[in-house]
Amino acid sequence: MSAMSKREDVKDEERNPLDPSAEMPPEIPAGLDRRKFMMRSAVISAAAVMNGCTRAETEKKAPPPAAAPASAAAAPAVPLDADLNVVKKGSGPVLTTVDEFYKVGPGPSSSHTIGPMRITYDFYQQAAKLPADKLATATKLQVNLFGSLSATGKGHGTERAALAGLVGKEPATVDPKFLDGLRDKPDQVFPVKLGGKTIDVSLKDVIYDATKGDFKHPNTMTVKLLAGNDVLLEQEYYSVGGGFIEWKGYTPPKKNAPKYPFRTMKELREHADKNKTTIAKIMLANETSITGRSEAEVYAFVDKIINAMVATVKSGLSMPEDDVLPGPIKLHSKAATVYKRAMDDKYEADRGIGALSAFAIAASEENGRGHLVITAPTGGSAGVMPALVYGLLEVRKADRQKVRDGMLAAAAVGYLCKHHATLSAAEGGCQAEIGVASSMAAALTATVFDAESRVVENAAESALEHHLGMTCDPVAGYVQVPCIERCAFGAVKAWTAYAIASNEIASRHRVDFDATVMALAQTARDMNSKYKETSEAGLAQSVVLC
Ligand code: SF4
Repeated sequence: MSAMSKREDVKDEERNPLDPSAEMPPEIPAGLDRRKFMMRSAVISAAAVMNGCTRAETEKKAPPPAAAPASAAAAPAVPLDADLNVVKKGSGPVLTTVDEFYKVGPGPSSSHTIGPMRITYDFYQQAAKLPADKLATATKLQVNLFGSLSATGKGHGTERAALAGLVGKEPATVDPKFLDGLRDKPDQVFPVKLGGKTIDVSLKDVIYDATKGDFKHPNTMTVKLLAGNDVLLEQEYYSVGGGFIEWKGYTPPKKNAPKYPFRTMKELREHADKNKTTIAKIMLANETSITGRSEAEVYAFVDKIINAMVATVKSGLSMPEDDVLPGPIKLHSKAATVYKRAMDDKYEADRGIGALSAFAIAASEENGRGHLVITAPTGGSAGVMPALVYGLLEVRKADRQKVRDGMLAAAAVGYLCKHHATLSAAEGGCQAEIGVASSMAAALTATVFDAESRVVENAAESALEHHLGMTCDPVAGYVQVPCIERCAFGAVKAWTAYAIASNEIASRHRVDFDATVMALAQTARDMNSKYKETSEAGLAQSVVLC
C-alpha cells in the first residue's frame, strides 16, 4: 500500500490540519520550489478538512503554484536549522507551562533583551563550574551578536542586557536603573568573579558582529571565556522569541505527560467540550500534571503576572506627559494625555476605546523605557495583554478568578502559536508578536465573559487572522514606532474580535484557529527578511529622523 493510499484511510475528522504531511501529493512538479509546493499542498489539505470538501475539489479552486523565480529580488529569510527545538517541537503535544511563557524582564524586546540576558547569565553559571586551574588562566569574557541581534540590537539595548547577564543579573529581578546607568555611562567596568579569578567586563566585550550569514537562527550569539587567544569555554546560543532560549546541542527538559494532551486548538476544545468544562480548566489540569505543582501554586504564579501587568499600566500612566523616551526618535510619551482626553469624550464607547488604547500605550511605553514588562508573548507586544487585564480587572471590576482563567486560556493560544509557528519577529514579523498578543487577549476577554470554548477559539482566531502579514520594521531599531501604537491597535482588535465572536453564531464561524496558525507559519516563512526585525525596510526606511 502506498503512503498516499494509507493517508486516504484517515477520516476527515481525524486529520490534523496542522500536519503538513497529511494528504501530500507524492510528486513535486518540475520547476517548482519544493518547500513552497509542500506548503501549498498542506494549506489545500487543511482547507479541505475544514471545509468538509475533498482535496481534489479544493485544489481545483486554489490558485496554481508559482514557479520558483530565477533570481529572488530580495534577500531570502535566514533559514531555520532543522536541529532547533523550535523547528522540531510541532510534532508532540504542547508542553509549555505558564512560568516558562509569561516572563517578567526588562524591555524593550524579549528576544533582544530578556533572551540575551538569560543567555549570558546561563553562560556565567556554566563558566563558574569550570575547574579552578582552568579559571585561574581566564583573561576575558566575550559576547558576539549575529543576525537580527546585531542588526537591531543597538536600538534594543542588547549589549546592555548581555552585559547585565554576564555580571550575574537575571531579567526578573534586574533593576532597570542598572540598565539605564549603562546607557548613561557606557564606560563602566564590572568585576566578574569566576572561582578564584576576577575578570573585568564592560560594554566593549559585547561585539556587534555579522548581520548576515549562515546562522541556525536569526537571533544567534556566541559567548566565550578566553585565556589569551585560547578558548576555555564557548557556547553558541539562540534567542528564539518570547525570551525563550536554546543553544547548540540543546535538548528540551524532560516533563511529565499532560493530563489532556493536545497539539491543536481543535483537540484542546474537544477536551473541554467532552469534559463539560472550559479551555482554562483543561489548561490548569495540564499545568499541574506537567509541573507537579498544585492548583494554588499555578494560580499564585498567574496572580504574580496579573499584578505585574496592572503595575506596568499604572506606572506608564503615571509618567509625566512631556516624558521623552530614550533613543534618537525623541518620541514623547502620550499614555497619560490619551487617557485624560479620552475621559472627556462625550460617548461611553469612545471613552472605552480611548482608555483601552491608553492602557496599551502606557505598558508599551514602559517597554520602550526598558522598564520591567511581561512577555505576553513578547516585549514588543507587552502593551496588549496588560491593557485588557487592567481594563477588565481595574475598570470593569471583573472577578479575579475569571481573569486568572482568562490568563490560562490566553496562554493556550500563545503556546499553540509558539508550537506550530513562531513568537519571534525575526522569524515572522510583527504578526508573530502583536498578532499573537491580540489573539491571546481576545481569548482572555472571551473567557472572562464566560464564553463557551468555541467562542473563545473564534475570538482568538479572528484577532490573529487580522494581523496576518504584518511586518516588523521598527524605526531606527527602537521598539517605539510602530510598536507603541501598534499595541493599542492590538488591544482594540482583541476587543473587536471578542465583540464579533460573542455576537455571531459561533458554529457559523468559517475559519478555525488552527488554520490561521498555519497561515501565520506560512506567511512567516514567505516574508522577506527585510521585514523581520532588521530595520532594513518599511517604516524603518521611510521615516526620516532629523
Ligand atoms: S514592529 Fe512589532 S514585532 Fe517589530 S519590534 Fe515593533 S512590536 Fe515588535
